[in-house]
Amino acid sequence: MNRKLTFLAVLCPLLFSSSSCTNREALGRSDDPKGGKAKTNDKLESVSPHVLPPLPFKEDALEPVISAKTISFHHGKHQKGYVDNLNKLVVGTDFAGMPLEKIITETAGKVDRTAIFNNAAQAWNHAFYWRSLSPKGGGEPPAALKQKIEASFGSLDACKKELATAAMGQFGSGWAWLVQDGDKLKVVKTGNADVPMTAGLKPLLVLDVWEHAYYLDYQNRRVDYVNTVLDKLINWAFAAENLD
Ligand code: MN
Repeated sequence: MNRKLTFLAVLCPLLFSSSSCTNREALGRSDDPKGGKAKTNDKLESVSPHVLPPLPFKEDALEPVISAKTISFHHGKHQKGYVDNLNKLVVGTDFAGMPLEKIITETAGKVDRTAIFNNAAQAWNHAFYWRSLSPKGGGEPPAALKQKIEASFGSLDACKKELATAAMGQFGSGWAWLVQDGDKLKVVKTGNADVPMTAGLKPLLVLDVWEHAYYLDYQNRRVDYVNTVLDKLINWAFAAENLD
């Protein structure tokens, strides 16, 4: 009996508030109180229960660089798992009802909140990663971004090389990021679920270098995944939108 009551107590708030959350998500940018264009992941400022955001493209849209099978597992199993775990973990805590990005900043570096941080950050990172890729990606960045890239790295090729080096140099699971640090652009890498925002850096785009991002298509050849994505899929237009 007690177990049943506990189960219902956990489940009911999720069920009863889910429709309002879904509606808010469906409204997308139109409920932005500032009325400005969406930047970084502000569209995902949903409170619990957090929802798995839809992909910004069809599952097979990134083929042949990333297969529909990889995208399907990555989005439908891995990312969904982080969102589902987060919703379970925040029930009855101060983090229930808190926007995703605030959960990340509030739990970063707190050893007793590692599980919530990991799942919240991974939910955010994956939503950001999908928008860092585009079937029409690669090529030349928009002028304003290209100018900043050339000022910070010397050339677009040098920037891509630095992103590839960071992606290859991340031992084990993690992320390679293009970030804005004041007037300068930089490349940084983070391990596991870690995010650059906690170090005061603004993410512009990201590459997922967890094995689940490429193993079905490239097995151990992370270098091929990274270089092909940088050449064919990387979404410079999204990075340009995120510039301050
Ligand atoms: Mn991933």
